Amino acid sequence: MASTTEEAQALVAKVLALERRRGFADDAVLGGLERFVARHLPEAAPLLAGYAARDPASREEAVTALERWLAAPLPPPGEVPVEALPGVGKRRAELLAKLGIRTVEDLLTFFPRRLEDRTGLRPIRNVRDGDVVLVEGVARAKSKVKVRRGLELVKVALDDGTGFLFGIWFNQPWVWDGIVQGERYAFWGKAQLRFGELQIENPVWERAGANEVTGRLVPVYPGTEGLSQPVLHGLVRRALDRYGGAIPDAVPAEVRARLGLLPRKEALARIHAPRTPEEFELARRSLAFEELLLLQLGVLSRRAPEGGGRALAVDRALLERFLRALPFELTPSQRRAIEAIERDLRSARPMLRLLQGDVGSGKTVVAAAACVMATSAGAQAAIMAPTEILAEQHFLVLGELLRGLPIRVAHLAGGLGRRERRDLLRAIAAGKVDLVVGTHALIQEDVVFRDLALAVVDEQHRFGVIQRAALEGKGAGTNILVMSATPIPRTVVLTLYGEFSVSVLAETPRSRGAVRTVWLSSSRREEVYREVGERLGRGEKGYVVFPVIEESEERDLRAAKAGYEELRQRFPAHGVALLHGRMPPEEKRRAMAAFRNGETQLLVATTVVEVGIDVPDASFLVIEHAERLGLAQLHQLRGRIGRAGQPAVCYALGDPTTEEGRARLSAFRDLGDGFKIAEADLRIRGPGDVLGTEQSGFVSRLKAADLARDLGLLERAREEALRLGEGGVPEALLREAERRFGEALALLGV
Ligand code: ADP
Ligand code: MG
Repeated sequence: MASTTEEAQALVAKVLALERRRGFADDAVLGGLERFVARHLPEAAPLLAGYAARDPASREEAVTALERWLAAPLPPPGEVPVEALPGVGKRRAELLAKLGIRTVEDLLTFFPRRLEDRTGLRPIRNVRDGDVVLVEGVARAKSKVKVRRGLELVKVALDDGTGFLFGIWFNQPWVWDGIVQGERYAFWGKAQLRFGELQIENPVWERAGANEVTGRLVPVYPGTEGLSQPVLHGLVRRALDRYGGAIPDAVPAEVRARLGLLPRKEALARIHAPRTPEEFELARRSLAFEELLLLQLGVLSRRAPEGGGRALAVDRALLERFLRALPFELTPSQRRAIEAIERDLRSARPMLRLLQGDVGSGKTVVAAAACVMATSAGAQAAIMAPTEILAEQHFLVLGELLRGLPIRVAHLAGGLGRRERRDLLRAIAAGKVDLVVGTHALIQEDVVFRDLALAVVDEQHRFGVIQRAALEGKGAGTNILVMSATPIPRTVVLTLYGEFSVSVLAETPRSRGAVRTVWLSSSRREEVYREVGERLGRGEKGYVVFPVIEESEERDLRAAKAGYEELRQRFPAHGVALLHGRMPPEEKRRAMAAFRNGETQLLVATTVVEVGIDVPDASFLVIEHAERLGLAQLHQLRGRIGRAGQPAVCYALGDPTTEEGRARLSAFRDLGDGFKIAEADLRIRGPGDVLGTEQSGFVSRLKAADLARDLGLLERAREEALRLGEGGVPEALLREAERRFGEALALLGV
């Protein structure tokens, strides 16, 4: 039989030509044309139904119809439902659908998780109990035993001349018929010594030399209820045979060749049937590169075009004045970020910039400089923060930083009275306020700006795409600066923020390496609080944090309040205050103010202090139930202490019960650098979880690429996408990018 559809089609075409030459006598092949076609091209056989019994005119019609069918191009696999494959009926189609496989393309891109090495042929004499082995020999004795009702056992002795090994199968009656005494077979599996006999239970077996399921590397597919590995192998092989020829290659051949990657068709064939682990990895990389390239093209094609915004006439003198008045020297990367923002604002393309930096790297002052520049050009700016506490803090800090400059700053606070609010909204609409700070209250419909030119989104992971877009929509061609709370792994930046320009604050001002982190079991809480008592006695300030997780908010809040009561009684002389998200804004503000000015030394808080809070002289932090928090959150919390460069200590009390939990707390203890933390997080949890729900659907679109380890490949894809962009991206490539990732990108708001 022809091994691929192309070969089968060529063969059938030849036979049809012969049949035509012989006047449709149905004698071109032995056994008749209908049977021949049914064997080689089963899906085309209905066209020849009843061929032998037809008259010559009708036969000619049938042959012509089949010739036309052969000449028609195969539809792309993405448009062919899996049911079109022989061997896929309704039931299998349903099982496949559970794996997300609906089309032949889905099947072809259902990649094996790993390879199982079924090579390593061994003489039976050298096989020991517990070895996983391949043996090959002649089937000798064969027996079938009904052990009890419902349990039948087939046993075959394999003899390779060095010894005997028994294959044992339970309830697989077809083995009895399949294995013929005296013929040679290969068995693969785990050998066991039982009653002095070497046995393999349910070995994988086939005729010696077949090398289909033994004697090679066999790909293992992700777990599949009701679909065995051999069935999947068979389906994939059939899909490749029939549709392999119709797989389009999106990546230009020249790019593939330069990077030493395989064409798509070849890569698909190899990933499902690799000859070596290296070949498997090469195939995976080739497919991953293609995904990443298409994704980058999709992302970059969404970049704002030149000229969509307007060039702001930044007043350099005012910026200089602002910078000179700062109580500190800017770090080199702060200076570079400000320069980049100035260039962006002066250009006619709307700015879309991500400002990344570890906690305490000084993002706020960069944001302030951006606001100075935008307002100096006569336009307005807004800063959106995720919580009222943070908005309030920004308002205070900006008030300090901008003191003496002709910039009118307002805080659109949640707790404003109706009149106050109305007056403020009027002032904003009239352009009497230059810079507005607030929470998502900023994007409410009644907030209208006279001329919003810059929108800063702080701790942007707290906001959805829609909120960002809404703020952007308050102006025309608004420049956007988003700031991340903690560093984001570079692979994630390049994919999710691919259309952003990025500024990284690489160093933290003043040496902030001084935070020591200790991870202790909660059974050692008493020691920790004794230490806290000593620190309070020395006049130090610090936080005790109780995680409050949405799913168990009520209970968590009670735990926090109980903890607060206990600590208040324990340290009556030092001022202990409580801060949690459900408190009225006014109370929150008072609690923060008292902590800031030192009236209270110990702030018992829920995770509302996680982001951004800046009380520089706080020097210790206790995190209760640390096992319940994510790495990024933990790192954020730790960023609250030692901010003035003083030595500080963080106690993480936690008893993780999972491997992942332990990995997380060890990473937290051992890594101080936010970029390293972000990468560890990606490795420990995997991209889907790190990115959150909105983004995880998107990650599942990446079937071959792995954001936790394909940074090099991604950077190449980025370069190539940019290069292709310069020469004008081929239309077909853009269409393919849209087809594969358009929906996912739209979901992200990219
Ligand atoms: P984050 O990046 O976490 O938002 P902040 O902007 O809150 O950090 O800055 C952290 C602290 O460092 C603030 O107290 C800020 O005033 C201070 N700071 C910022 N830049 C510098 C600098 N160049 N030199 C000294 N201190 C700085
Ligand atoms: Mg901040």
